[in-house]
Amino acid sequence: MSHLPPFSGDDPTCPKCGNVGASSTFSERNPRNGLWGDRLVRVCLRCGYSWDESTVDQDQEDGQGVGA
Ligand SMILES: [Zn+2]
Repeated sequence: MSHLPPFSGDDPTCPKCGNVGASSTFSERNPRNGLWGDRLVRVCLRCGYSWDESTVDQDQEDGQGVGA
């Protein structure tokens, strides 16, 4: 069950400073609360604000349980 926003591509707009462009780092857990769950951690190249987005495979699984 992904509650993260979908991956916004290579040139997302930072919600804090409006800069276009952020790095993407895959992580298996939330760096802020330590909870497990795949995510892409985006970090704004200008101000350093970070936010999480869902991975592409999670987007494709939306609406289905995670089985297998
Ligand atoms: Zn920013």
